[in-house]
Amino acid sequence: MGSLSGAGLSWRSGVSSPPSSKPSALSRHRLSAMIRSAISVERKRLNLQKSEEIFDAAKELMPGGVNSPVRAFKSVGGQPIVFDSAKGSRVWDVDGNEYIDYVLSWGPAILGHADDQVNAALIEAVKKGTSFGAPCVLENTLAEMVISAVPSVEMVRFVNSGTEACMGALRLARAFTGRQKIIKFEGCYHGHADAFLVKAGSGVATLGLPDSPGVPKAATADTLTSPYNDIDAVRNLFESHKDEIATVIIEPVVGNAGFITPKPDFLSALRKITKQEGALLIFDEVMTGFRLSYGGAQEYFGVVPDLTTLGKIIGGGLPVGAYGGKREIMEMVAPAGPVYQAGTLSGNPLAMTAGIHTLQRLQETGFYQRLNELTGKLVTGILEAGRMAGHEISGGSIGGMFGFFFMGEPVYNYEDAKKSDTAKFARFHRGMLEEGVYLAPSQFEAGFTSIAHALEDIGQTIEAAEKVFRRI
Ligand SMILES: *Cc1c(COP(=O)(O)O)cnc(C)c1O
Repeated sequence: MGSLSGAGLSWRSGVSSPPSSKPSALSRHRLSAMIRSAISVERKRLNLQKSEEIFDAAKELMPGGVNSPVRAFKSVGGQPIVFDSAKGSRVWDVDGNEYIDYVLSWGPAILGHADDQVNAALIEAVKKGTSFGAPCVLENTLAEMVISAVPSVEMVRFVNSGTEACMGALRLARAFTGRQKIIKFEGCYHGHADAFLVKAGSGVATLGLPDSPGVPKAATADTLTSPYNDIDAVRNLFESHKDEIATVIIEPVVGNAGFITPKPDFLSALRKITKQEGALLIFDEVMTGFRLSYGGAQEYFGVVPDLTTLGKIIGGGLPVGAYGGKREIMEMVAPAGPVYQAGTLSGNPLAMTAGIHTLQRLQETGFYQRLNELTGKLVTGILEAGRMAGHEISGGSIGGMFGFFFMGEPVYNYEDAKKSDTAKFARFHRGMLEEGVYLAPSQFEAGFTSIAHALEDIGQTIEAAEKVFRRI
């Protein structure tokens, strides 16, 4: 008991007071009793006993009990929930609670979890061997699919994660231009390679860590940062570092500082400047690729970068990343060229199979239209419910990606995003869990929908939000 309360939140007792208001023990007790009786009719109770036990054990075995920090519930209080299984739009925890899932493994599960067709293909693939360490024809198939889908990609290299993809693309951009410096944007995440761990968004932001210890100064000395959506700041960096900047890397729609969209013409202005200055433009589409539209953000906004990084969806739930771009640049990668990059499990038949069968389904007529409509309905419903209950809230969606902030004004960059009421988000997150809705445990993460989310799921989520907005 009580182990679920954390970070100033005591949600089990029914009181979700911000840490600043500290009523006396007696009044707190009365208040909690009053609130309990007022909401006990509609509030569901979660039994999370097994989750707690397993996570307590995990904390002794793995740092923080998790294998990726964003899974921890540090910023929303309490312990992470231990999952047992997932199917379609739903996940089940080890205590048997069911949730509608809007994390979807942080994006890959765009068909919904454990899709029957992808699973069947995987089972057949397993029988033929899980990894060869030699070429297989499935690599050609997925490469052809990615090349024909993503406008900037003429050649592609598969790797095992988005982090690896961004590392590879960065090395390549530096080699191709013969320059060292890079520009990244505050709040954008490009994996955990040293050079990118500067103002790197969600995971780092959620924990309130500055740039990570263990990253040598030299590794980030060439990393320049600019606020998102600020073209003048980018122009100034190019002026003060003439002929030194190898590349500008960007999340074309930010998902790692909450959901933030580019201003009209921001991406095309970046395209123009980089071209003029002889720098490469990298779109990090690890999240947005195949999620905003089949051709990703570059197709959606009609801006074609020099290099693109991919991950998440192209692995259909298995570990995959990729980077690709213009042929003349990609032919610098070993063994065609001198830029070294390798991987024991890269392009393995299992991951390629999951990717191929996922992408095939995304080509079905009307897929993105339907996904876009579902997501739009969800966000509109949540925003309306929030405003009806008197909350300041702003947000939006594109394709199967969405987000909202607890603030009235629109959000253009990470500085804006940080003004959101994160304590309120924590209470909202808790409330939604109790109502059977699993949201990312941080204000600074985008949400995701899948084609397996039915209109009833969306309706149920909005109803849950209406209840929770009234009591937070
Ligand atoms: C998730 C993500 C990454 C890192 O991918 P991993 O597979 O977690 O290494 C990089 N860039 C963006 C935009 C991401 O969303």
